[in-house]
Amino acid sequence: MKRLFLITIAALFTSAAIAQQPIAQKLIYYSISFPNAAHHEAEVVMTIPQAPETLRFRMSRSSAGRYATHEFGKNIYNIKVTDIEGNPLPFTQLEGDLYEVGAHPANIKVSYTLFGNWTDGTYTSIDPSHAHLNMPATFMWVIGQEKRPLKFEFNDLDKYGWKVATQLKPEGSNIYSAPDMQYMMDSPTELSNYKITNWDVTNTDGKKEKINVTIHSDDSQNVVDNFGKMVQKLVQEEKAVYGEFPAYDYGEYTFLTDVYPTTSGDGMEHRNSTCIVDPLDKVAGNEGDLLGIFSHEYFHSWNVKRIRPKSLEPFNFEHANMSSELWFAEGFTQYYGELLLTRSGFNTLDDYTQTIAGLVNQILNTPGASKYPATQMSRYSVFADAGVSIDPNNNVNDFTSYYTYGGAIALALDLRLRSEFNLTLDDYMRQVWLARGKVMKPYTISDLQNDLGKVTNNPKFAADFFKRYINGTDKNNYDELLGKAGLVLRKMQPGIAWVGSLATKPGRGRAGQQLAAGAEGLPILSSTIIGTPVYKAGLDAGDIILKADGQTITDTKSFSDVIAGKKPGDKVTVNYKNRTGAHETTIVLEESPYFEVVTFEKAGKPLSKEQEAFRTNWLQSKIK
Ligand SMILES: [Zn+2]
Repeated sequence: MKRLFLITIAALFTSAAIAQQPIAQKLIYYSISFPNAAHHEAEVVMTIPQAPETLRFRMSRSSAGRYATHEFGKNIYNIKVTDIEGNPLPFTQLEGDLYEVGAHPANIKVSYTLFGNWTDGTYTSIDPSHAHLNMPATFMWVIGQEKRPLKFEFNDLDKYGWKVATQLKPEGSNIYSAPDMQYMMDSPTELSNYKITNWDVTNTDGKKEKINVTIHSDDSQNVVDNFGKMVQKLVQEEKAVYGEFPAYDYGEYTFLTDVYPTTSGDGMEHRNSTCIVDPLDKVAGNEGDLLGIFSHEYFHSWNVKRIRPKSLEPFNFEHANMSSELWFAEGFTQYYGELLLTRSGFNTLDDYTQTIAGLVNQILNTPGASKYPATQMSRYSVFADAGVSIDPNNNVNDFTSYYTYGGAIALALDLRLRSEFNLTLDDYMRQVWLARGKVMKPYTISDLQNDLGKVTNNPKFAADFFKRYINGTDKNNYDELLGKAGLVLRKMQPGIAWVGSLATKPGRGRAGQQLAAGAEGLPILSSTIIGTPVYKAGLDAGDIILKADGQTITDTKSFSDVIAGKKPGDKVTVNYKNRTGAHETTIVLEESPYFEVVTFEKAGKPLSKEQEAFRTNWLQSKIK
């Protein structure tokens, strides 16, 4: 009782002293508390010493690493502006998320209530179990003051039994700092009773760094420790690609992990940390699933957080930065994320052949990749990356993800470097790391081309590769390239009749739900795909299939039953209706263009010594 009382007095004294600090130190000071965590609210006070004469402050509209815009301003209310003594000052709301203060003294305070109930790598969620804070969704900021140092005071930690996990610099007790606004935005912070496991790694220059894995979940310390050992292996495998770890600020890197059934599934990279959330019951039993996100996000601590496209620098928190380089920043990271799971023994060769088939189908069998270069698909990220809108898009016909598109390009380049140059994609990544990432020189696409010319000592090859496969829509010969590793690329369903995807599952929105509930026939609820038999027959969203070959169609099964007895080339007469009345069309059945990848062994073909050596070199562990 006595001891508690003493602590309270001490705490009061400390915070009173701290309140004077920001004014004296001229830094922007944020204090966040959680009096109403049960209802997902936080109270934020921002102290601005020496505020500029034209004082505008705002909430962000975008978040570093998430490429579409988000309206974080919608979850901010009870905004108040006062002088340092608490006397109210007038201010106006210029835009949904932008405010301007009228005549004001030098030192002022802005306070507001923040609502957050979405746990992922972009938004904020607050409840008594945690405050999962992504900074653009949490803290307002002052326009024109982005270079000023910042401090953060995280309150109510004892009340909820929380600890702080973050890449922000610890400044004693519950205070943390960031050198500027860009750094703050890149530093997600998890306040919770997480478990932690950590270990030291020795970098190539002999310096020690610490890797932390914090996990907010219903797991025992034992499970967390064991999972940490798996991550440890993966981390070493990733280092082997580049030959060294990045020099992490303050000597630490932290995986901020949150596993619970109501979280989103997401990973978001940062300079010295990553935010990973997964809607699983717990880590125990799901380690393999989780490692995929760890593998991808950790690779970003080199590729995108340090090997940085010029187009993302500096990050604009009022708009979405548009980048033509995401096929490299995300796509090559996608390729390595999967490859490194195989190299470190967490995925089997058969798992990996399925991954490869996925990449090859994306680049060879999607309308987006056949029409547009990877650079253009990268720019679509400003709409695609968790961008939210209520009307449908035509992505199945106009967009191929830069993750898989770029991943397939990385696969081809790796196999070509190995077979034509006796080099590997690792050699190229190391070249880009040394020329760009390590020295923090943001790159352009022509820089990437130069680096490929340098590593191959063949600028002509680099120019041709970039012209045809990066800036153009030519495709590499995957069949031939995979053959070098003793893998067969072949049709998944040879000789079987196929109509294409019909998109008959009810999507979002009332129209789809009502159509689906309409009982009669089989409604098509979203765009059919260019080049497929149903598309060629003129069928699309809004059509309801009533009969096929004279048989009444009531659902997907009755439709596929009609197709099942047929061969590619056969015709099916379809009766359908839409808003313009009843119609008839003919679907000419084809063979599915989709591929699978299998080993020579599985395909019953002899595997040569060269193929075996090529495959081993590619997929075996590189940890020395
Ligand atoms: Zn990524």
